[in-house]
Amino acid sequence: MAAAQLELWQVAKRFQGVVAVDSVSLTATAGQVTGLIGPNGSGKTTTMNMITGLYPTDAGHIRLDGVDIARLAPHRVAALGVARTFQNIRLLATETTLANVLLGAHRHQSASLLDVLLGLPAVKRSEAREKARCEALLDLVGITHLKDVAVGGLSYGDRRRVEIARALATQPRLLLLDEPAAGMNFAEKRALADLVLAIRDMGITVLLIEHDIEFVARVSDHIVVLNFGREIAAGTPEEVRRMPSVIEAYLGT
Ligand code: ADP
Repeated sequence: MAAAQLELWQVAKRFQGVVAVDSVSLTATAGQVTGLIGPNGSGKTTTMNMITGLYPTDAGHIRLDGVDIARLAPHRVAALGVARTFQNIRLLATETTLANVLLGAHRHQSASLLDVLLGLPAVKRSEAREKARCEALLDLVGITHLKDVAVGGLSYGDRRRVEIARALATQPRLLLLDEPAAGMNFAEKRALADLVLAIRDMGITVLLIEHDIEFVARVSDHIVVLNFGREIAAGTPEEVRRMPSVIEAYLGT
């Protein structure tokens, strides 16, 4: 599956008169990592929630490979190949790492309930394939050794990895990461940066919200800066870091 191109055009969202996103236009270019940064309350999460169908837009277009997805329900957006991770990790704590990742693969299991109940060989084969695919993803994110461990007992950084593996198990063409480096130590951030680049190199478009400007600069091909629900700057990491408006609004130095 080819990487997807995401285009937002003058997207807006209000909550009872509060302007969360005023007018955001941005492109997450196919096969690249796009970083979305900005101060707290600048509209990043709301933007991501509109892309995934959690919130309907009030105005503007959201296009995935040219198809308007702005008013689709979350499961329909997911079915088009959009996966996400959340700022607050959402995993089943009592289930193992592998079981959590298999949940992500579930939407690809096409067998009917009757086939499953009858335990047909084709179903068994397809389950074995899914399991092998998920195990390969555990390897990719570096947590094979935690395969049979309940997620509730894992470190924060490892839970983040499980979450990313679960998102990848849906075989996305666009992956949205909401503050993946939050709460990670220096070594974990370095490993995460390598993982994000590996995901991009697998042919998956990445849109990343992140507070850590060093992290964003390391992994992003392109950065978009929001402030007060509007795009105030965009460019390469080097360009964006030199812009006075960004320094003033975001870096505060
Ligand atoms: P960021 O992710 O950049 O911190 P958000 O998108 O979370 O920003 O929030 C943008 C603005 O919208 C903030 O002023 C926030 O309080 C407001 N907001 C976000 N979600 C809601 C909601 N569900 N109801 C009311 N206001 C909201």
